[in-house]
Amino acid sequence: MDRKMKKDTSSYDDKNPNKYRKETKKVCAFCAEKSEVIDYKNSVKLRKYMTEKGKIIPRRTTGVCAKHQRELTNAIKRARVMALLPYRTL
Ligand SMILES: [Zn+2]
Repeated sequence: MDRKMKKDTSSYDDKNPNKYRKETKKVCAFCAEKSEVIDYKNSVKLRKYMTEKGKIIPRRTTGVCAKHQRELTNAIKRARVMALLPYRTL
């Protein structure tokens, strides 16, 4: 009887979409190193938050917090004007 009930709950777990999600929560990389200002001249670092085509990756993918994503976006745009980063790559 008990075993049967356990089996029922496990089959319910299989249908749970959260089962295969990663449990670990992403921490904002900029909060972790406690950097107040994101340097637009550090193009190597900014490039990690861009796709190969040169688009800015959304924060739901990278785990950057809202505050730092705003600064990051400004830094990338500034770096583009200074020709440190591409607007797009062909
Ligand atoms: Zn942050």
